[in-house]
Amino acid sequence: MGLIRRIREWWRRRHRKRGTAAGADGGERESQERAPRSGKTFASLESERYARGNFLHFGKLGGAYPAGLDLKGAADLLGIFGSDLYAPGMQDLEHERPYKPAPLLPGTHICDFCARPVIGGEYQVLRDGRERCAKCSRTVVKDAGSVKKIFREVKKRMELLYGIEFTNEVSVQVVSAKKLHKLSGREFVPTSGFDARAIGFALVKRGRQEVVLENGSPRASFISTTAHELTHCWQNQFPYFHNLVERVEQGSLSNEMRLMIVEGHATWSEVQYLFLIGEHDEAQFAMDNYLRRDDEYGRGFRMYMEKYGFSKTSVIVRDTPFSHPDNPLDL
Ligand SMILES: [Zn+2]
Ligand SMILES: [Zn+2]
Repeated sequence: MGLIRRIREWWRRRHRKRGTAAGADGGERESQERAPRSGKTFASLESERYARGNFLHFGKLGGAYPAGLDLKGAADLLGIFGSDLYAPGMQDLEHERPYKPAPLLPGTHICDFCARPVIGGEYQVLRDGRERCAKCSRTVVKDAGSVKKIFREVKKRMELLYGIEFTNEVSVQVVSAKKLHKLSGREFVPTSGFDARAIGFALVKRGRQEVVLENGSPRASFISTTAHELTHCWQNQFPYFHNLVERVEQGSLSNEMRLMIVEGHATWSEVQYLFLIGEHDEAQFAMDNYLRRDDEYGRGFRMYMEKYGFSKTSVIVRDTPFSHPDNPLDL
């Protein structure tokens, strides 16, 4: 049977199936049952508002998709066209084999924002040499107004969701990768592979805090970097974190351990924040990335993950490092 006929047949079968099921249990009712309107906290309302306000998020909360979406059907259709869902990685998962990605062909370009190989040669080269895949380009935070709005939202939601307060004023500045590295005293050299680099940092300037972020980021990574840097701003409010540098200078703490304490907390916080606002796929992707890393960020992340775990719902249901500003890792 030809491909077009197979697809037509397939659609006809699906259409018949959906026709009998749709009347009895509409998606609307089921999603209401999952998320009762009573007893909601400000924190969970904030998470819900984020999920509903983002079209591509499909209102997904707590890891569940609304019942009205036929994701299985969509996956089957994509399978007919040879989608990635049936790629070797997915088959390995199905048969519980460890996934070993195929070695990249020489000359493959890697997106500098999501670290995935660029498929079909579709990518943009930014003025400073960074390469961005088509998927990341679609949600880029472009203008200063959007940057400020997202920054304010993340800050407010972190206060509500983590039950914390930013006592000092924090401003935000967005600059190119080159300028960001100049400001932080490091060098940036773009390549065709993934360019490991600083994508943001927090600094104290004349007693006021400032977060400097890299421009050109897709929305989700902009949000998680903001949450990461704001965690450093929160740390700066407490003597324990201030004294870490002094302890390194005195020799009672290694610089590696200092980095694990501060960066482990910030990486834990960005992943937990993504879970809280319902960005589960992004949270999982970031988590896998940190679990693979063998530097202070990766090792620190694992220490916080072991001690605090993650709340994978729209509210915090476990103890967090934010409740222990005097010694989050009991060291
Ligand atoms: Zn990308
Ligand atoms: Zn950091």
